[in-house]
Amino acid sequence: MAASVAPLTAPLAVTGPPVAVRPFVVGYEPMRESMSVDGGDPGKHLLEPVTAVAVEYADGWVLLDTGFNVAVVRDPERRREVFNYDSYTAVVPLGDPLLDSVAAAGLSWETLAGCAISHVHLDHTGGIRHVPDGVPVILQRRELEWLASGAGIRDVVLPSDVWDAGDDLREIAGETAIAPGLTALDTHGHTPGHQSFRIELASGRVVVLACDAADLVDNLDTRRRCSVVPVEGAAEAAQEAVERLADMRGGDVEVWPGHDPEFWPWVAAARGEALRVE
Ligand SMILES: [Zn+2]
Repeated sequence: MAASVAPLTAPLAVTGPPVAVRPFVVGYEPMRESMSVDGGDPGKHLLEPVTAVAVEYADGWVLLDTGFNVAVVRDPERRREVFNYDSYTAVVPLGDPLLDSVAAAGLSWETLAGCAISHVHLDHTGGIRHVPDGVPVILQRRELEWLASGAGIRDVVLPSDVWDAGDDLREIAGETAIAPGLTALDTHGHTPGHQSFRIELASGRVVVLACDAADLVDNLDTRRRCSVVPVEGAAEAAQEAVERLADMRGGDVEVWPGHDPEFWPWVAAARGEALRVE
């Protein structure tokens, strides 16, 4: 467990508005439909993409989520310790998909202004290790408190992924502007401090990344919550979160589910298209 984490005191140092969203698929995970959608089919398994996004500005970029820790996936012993589940494992393409996606998008780690993580499940935290020293890594305070209280592998959490960021960790509490045109939204329920992200692009288009508050389009269409960490009130909070996200859709606002294998930006990213959504 780490010492106390400093608050984020100012928005990240990029000049707004953001000009593009760059969707990345950085791995896959087999998942029962019932894990993604409350009341879904437990006999139907999906191979869900593990996703991340770069928000591009004229003078830098911000990384949202980071995928699996590929060093752990590739090390037989550590893989056995961490991915020791019968029905859940990491499926990772050759190479390091986060590094490869960033390079394919033409982005440089030298201009990364910050990184924000939706929540500490290990399919979101594994690439924090690639964030250069001195670049803030932002999470909700309640998520860090859950991590500090002992969340671990039985919770699908690899604490060292996060704590290794050390002094670069920054906490926020609730809805917060983390960069120009980029707002963290409190969508806790899936985990105690889960957050989603709203990106207001220069074009007027608004992309809301649900992350794991809505794995699939189906969560939004049928207003059914995701699976939750079993803490008090989590199911109700997750249901509120998915309904709030579903209500945001329409007009210039689109809501991207975090793990939908058939959702168009992830389909394009999985094909290796360096999609640039303006
Ligand atoms: Zn999750």
